[in-house]
Amino acid sequence: MITRTANCKCGSVKLNIVPKSGKVEFTCEECGKYVKALNYGKYVTINSECKKCNGKSFKIKVTNNEDKKPEKWAPYCTDCGEEPKPFYADEKGNVLDSGVRELLIIKDTIEELGQRVDSLDGTVESNSYTISEHENSLYELQHNLGRCESKISDFDSSIDTLESDIDSCEKDINSCESSLSDLKSEISDLDWKVDRLE
Ligand SMILES: [Zn+2]
Ligand SMILES: [Zn+2]
Repeated sequence: MITRTANCKCGSVKLNIVPKSGKVEFTCEECGKYVKALNYGKYVTINSECKKCNGKSFKIKVTNNEDKKPEKWAPYCTDCGEEPKPFYADEKGNVLDSGVRELLIIKDTIEELGQRVDSLDGTVESNSYTISEHENSLYELQHNLGRCESKISDFDSSIDTLESDIDSCEKDINSCESSLSDLKSEISDLDWKVDRLE
């Protein structure tokens, strides 16, 4: 375990306390620069003055456990060594009793839940929009499919018509061929008769 006294970059170890709700900021007493903020939990803070001697100068003992846990920062009064006691306070620094603090935490939680419900509502809305877009695409696909099917049945009936046309053409050709052979035999008959006449 290593202990040291927290210091500003300017080298000073004397710090002032700036209480905020839920946390405390430490600034340098010599140069005024921000040194460190410590979290004290919801609506918990410490005073900027020592309760015992009213001094405003504090030092911070920093304890560093070597097993890599976060450092422990413990402020104490520069003049009398008193450690400031955490207390409940609202955003404006007004002291709260524990009941009011609990109510404020519940109120914050309800507000957070409300915000989450709002964002969930937004997500549900955008999801249902996507679903209705998909439904539209599906409807279009079904419509196109229906058009394709009716074109295919049009082709089928055209093929039927063509086949029956081909059939009737073949019949015509057959009858033409038989007429032709009739004609040929008539011609050869005539030829024979002409031969006889000569
Ligand atoms: Zn400084
Ligand atoms: Zn003191």
